[in-house]
Amino acid sequence: MNQFYITTSIPYVNGEPHLGHALEFILADSMARYARELNKQVIFSTGTDEHGSKIYNKAKDLKLDVQDFVNQTSDQFKKLAKDLNVSNNRFVRTTDQNHIDRVQLIWQKMSKDFYKSKYIGWYCDGDEAYFTDSEVRENNGICPNHNKPFEKIEEENYFFPLSKYSEKIYQAIIDNKFKIYPKGKRNEMLSFLNDGLEDISVSRPIKKVPWGIEVPGDKKQTIYVWFEALLNYITVLGYPEHSDFQQYWPANIQVVGKDIARFHAIILPAILMSLDLELPQNLYIHGFVSVNGKKMGKSLGNSINPTQIIKKYGVDPTRYYFLRHISSSSDGDFSFEAMDDAYNNELANELGNLIQRSLVMINKYLNGEIGSIPPPEHDIIPYKRAIEAFHLDQALDEVFKQVRSLNQYIDETKPWVIAKQNDKDHLKEVLEYLASSILEIAFLLKPFLPETSKKIEDIFKSKKLPSKLEILFPKLEEPAKHEAN
Ligand SMILES: [Zn+2]
Repeated sequence: MNQFYITTSIPYVNGEPHLGHALEFILADSMARYARELNKQVIFSTGTDEHGSKIYNKAKDLKLDVQDFVNQTSDQFKKLAKDLNVSNNRFVRTTDQNHIDRVQLIWQKMSKDFYKSKYIGWYCDGDEAYFTDSEVRENNGICPNHNKPFEKIEEENYFFPLSKYSEKIYQAIIDNKFKIYPKGKRNEMLSFLNDGLEDISVSRPIKKVPWGIEVPGDKKQTIYVWFEALLNYITVLGYPEHSDFQQYWPANIQVVGKDIARFHAIILPAILMSLDLELPQNLYIHGFVSVNGKKMGKSLGNSINPTQIIKKYGVDPTRYYFLRHISSSSDGDFSFEAMDDAYNNELANELGNLIQRSLVMINKYLNGEIGSIPPPEHDIIPYKRAIEAFHLDQALDEVFKQVRSLNQYIDETKPWVIAKQNDKDHLKEVLEYLASSILEIAFLLKPFLPETSKKIEDIFKSKKLPSKLEILFPKLEEPAKHEAN
């Protein structure tokens, strides 16, 4: 099976892209690029989630036509993906006619499972989600995501019997047919399933939520935004008849944030089971990104637009920070100070310096001609294993171990001393080893820092090395003062 399908969650377009979106894009992109290195045929999908009352109300507040508003915000996410050099080849919007048509078809297929009933319970407008009695009790009646009381609501909706599938989902996780990373999240999802699931409402009265996909055959209801958004992963492939769907489903990897883990670990699998479809193979759940140790938020005045970071440091340094300095398996933090340090100490001093001094020596001692390069024999199994276990931070640790040890190799072999001794064969051998090891580093960096990797390869693969090089990571001279916007 050479097909490989990877997805990010689709951001809800009621606000601008933040660091969490950047993190998710970069993580998924690195895995998509890694899969391409393994010669897989990759479909990499992202997109935007565009229905629901929150978006409807926001557009109304801004006195904008709702479709115009979602077009604008969706474009911001598209642009962020592009700015981060994300290699997605699909972008699904839930207001696309293709999505809408297929959602209505899926609704009809699943309607054997649905029943109509009065819903009396808890709701948070901020999440556009329903909450169970136990969740409300655990949080003392206050939504932890929005710091406001859950709302008690009563309405007649269609329901999907989640409970019917809980045992099967539980078993799929236990049998590792549906793998959830990291382990802590897997356990959390198992315990949700163990506690028993309540059936979920999958529609809303059109009077309350007019901005949504109409329930087929019922003009009084729209399909619940969360329910139809989850279907994007199959509608984008052209479920049910398109050959992409036949070839690429089930997804190999789904990347989502921890706030929406249960939608992807429980509700989506139940929907797929109802449709008689296979579950995704891997669900990878990442954490949150705080800023200067504080939770990010508009109201807190500390939100940073990822574009600010890209503008200041460049794309690859931004990717680098998010991949190596934000934990792959828990929450992480961004600060301009930490970013400056990572940039100066690791990218400039370690990697940039290695490239620079190697190039200078090969030019000086071999006239820039490095000849045939013996392939290095480093152990890259830990690197591969780290990526395959979704520890991208550790995979980069492995690469930088090699960077450091090569710098050390130069310090210890002292090619300038060998040159003085006029031992040409030894000198050539040392520099060839250096060049080949650098090429290996470029190869290992490819999924993570694609531009840097290409620059290094272009230099060291050429028959005659360039005599001068634009410095890869010019050191930041003075730490600039930073203001969050
Ligand atoms: Zn909430």
